[in-house]
Amino acid sequence: MVGGGVVGLSATVALLRRGVDVRCYESGEPMGERSAGDTRIFRLAHTYPDMVALAAQSRALFAEWSDRAGAALVDEVGTVVSGAEVGTWAKAMATAGAAHEMVAAGSPLLRLPARTFAGPALIDPAGGVIRVDRIRAFLVDAVGNRVRQAHVDAVEETRLGVRVKSGTEADTFDAVVICAGAGTSALAAGVGIDTPSALEHHLRVSFPLRPGAPAPLQCWITEPADGLLGTYQHLAGPGSWAVGGHLDPALVTWAGGRPAAERASLKAVTDHVVEHLPHVEPRPIGRLYCTHDPNLGDGLQFARSGRVLAMYGENLMKFAPLLGEMLAQACIDGSTPANAGPRRQQPQ
Ligand SMILES: Cc1cc2nc3c(=O)[nH]c(=O)nc-3n(C[C@H](O)[C@H](O)[C@H](O)COP(=O)(O)OP(=O)(O)OC[C@H]3O[C@@H](n4cnc5c(N)ncnc54)[C@H](O)[C@@H]3O)c2cc1C
Repeated sequence: MVGGGVVGLSATVALLRRGVDVRCYESGEPMGERSAGDTRIFRLAHTYPDMVALAAQSRALFAEWSDRAGAALVDEVGTVVSGAEVGTWAKAMATAGAAHEMVAAGSPLLRLPARTFAGPALIDPAGGVIRVDRIRAFLVDAVGNRVRQAHVDAVEETRLGVRVKSGTEADTFDAVVICAGAGTSALAAGVGIDTPSALEHHLRVSFPLRPGAPAPLQCWITEPADGLLGTYQHLAGPGSWAVGGHLDPALVTWAGGRPAAERASLKAVTDHVVEHLPHVEPRPIGRLYCTHDPNLGDGLQFARSGRVLAMYGENLMKFAPLLGEMLAQACIDGSTPANAGPRRQQPQ
């Protein structure tokens, strides 16, 4: 496994449970890059029915993980989706047979820290807050000493197996999965696997909730939002509301640099809080930065060359236990999981 983010650790755990001897290379802290932070949104709701069905499978596996961890890994408060495309989301939920409810703006079923907005809204009752802090503790414990803290410089197919080079060391394996987040593209290119390599800056900001906010608050995704292409919002801890905004791409380009993108993001989401969230104090108390690919939305992508499999996508936290199972099985039988979501090109 190359990459000890949530995807690599989940696959390592799934392989260990199948009795496979596995090593996970991680150049930094496990779950320290795109998997960093305390919380994420879980939702069955997607705009593609296959993604809804996969999210339902993942939710069941999260329940198994919760039993093993002895703590709930998803706080099932529900997720609300609103905005111009809500009909598409509802259609995908209906096609996949997932429970959901359409409500009008101002419905008492909505528990958001917001003024009323242009409806309708979709309530996904199986959605909620993913407890990343608990998942990290669970996975790090479960992988034990299988994580090697080392930067992988190259992955190469040889006659004897797949060679993983790290500094002056090189080891050969029967199979390798590259799930290195922002590092995937460069490593995968070395074995002839072409994966998207575009990067953009992104910032999520946390603010204090004012006393008297509705409880328990639901997670909320809305697109577009005034001045922003969209936002996602959820509880990031007791009394703390996280708001992530999707900005005009020109404001968060890779070339424009992280400081400028963070400044623009901070201003945009703080303005959004002032304008739309009366139950939230517009005083930033936490930041979570990450890189992401501006061309990938929800979707699971796999590509194989021989014994090397690369996995990439966005919003993968909610699929972590399912991805672990899929990647473990693919390592063992040499298969390539089917792509899901909007980009449906068949793997090689
Ligand atoms: C602010 C924010 C909000 C998000 N919101 C949601 C959400 O609401 N719902 C959701 O489901 N998802 C969400 N996501 C996305 C989700 O967190 C990520 O998709 C997921 O964590 C990615 O996991 P990963 O293992 O693929 O990548 P990463 O966590 O980035 O792991 C890859 C690892 O590979 C390591 N690595 C890279 N190159 C090398 C190398 N050459 N050698 C060794 N190691 C290497 C890195 O150090 C890194 O730890 C959000 C992400 C962020 C940051």
